[in-house]
Amino acid sequence: MKTPRLYADALGHATGEVVLTERNHHYLTRVLRAKTAQVIELFDGSGRSCQAIIKNISKRETIAEILNVTEHEDRRLPVTLGLALIKPDRFDWALQKVTEIGVNAIQPLITQFTDSPPNAVRIRKKWGHWQEILVNACEQSENNWLPELRGPSYLHELVLPQQVVIAHPAGESACIDTTKESLLLIGPEGGFSDDEVNSLVKNEVKPMSLGPTILRAETAAIVGLTLLGYQYGHY
Ligand code: SAM
Repeated sequence: MKTPRLYADALGHATGEVVLTERNHHYLTRVLRAKTAQVIELFDGSGRSCQAIIKNISKRETIAEILNVTEHEDRRLPVTLGLALIKPDRFDWALQKVTEIGVNAIQPLITQFTDSPPNAVRIRKKWGHWQEILVNACEQSENNWLPELRGPSYLHELVLPQQVVIAHPAGESACIDTTKESLLLIGPEGGFSDDEVNSLVKNEVKPMSLGPTILRAETAAIVGLTLLGYQYGHY
């Protein structure tokens, strides 16, 4: 059986015996029906993982003993994905896939054509749900680096880094400077407005084509990251 891999953000430099979180305890007891002496893997999302052995598993808690700790190189793509908020199920799907690919950070965007922009209360409710998607995707894909999830921002308020690429059907194949990090912008279902594109291009943002067909935003996120990843020598 594959060793279960669980996220433990407080792993830090822990040694000896640790009490697992309620989430991990629940998963091990209810889903995996784990037993004492089972070996598990824990990772902290910041490049550290360890093998651990279950010492005690009761109705109330699971205690594991940490064995060998490994530090992993950060192999995430040096790209922040600026993804416009789209239908919730599609946004969730994109979060999962781009975490599997190994993006550095995710910036949810509110653009001129974003349907019903969320208010602060809705965002707070979404936050835990989005974070859980990232954690699950890291657990499944053996990615030891959790992407940084940024708070949603209006596109026009975003502080642009040095290198920005906007995925736009009228763009060309964009060649990036691979010594710098990039921000990749993907628009909502209605696309970016002409005003948004013009103002970004004035700020030396590169419009990049993702091929001759119009992709859904979540597909565009994957294709865009893959193309940039190829230039960064990620594959
Ligand atoms: N009618 C919209 C337009 O022309 O922009 C289509 C929007 S598309 C469903 C959503 C987003 O995916 C776009 O804003 C763009 O960022 C990206 N996208 C989709 N297809 C693309 C392509 N062929 N080249 C570049 N970007 C694309």
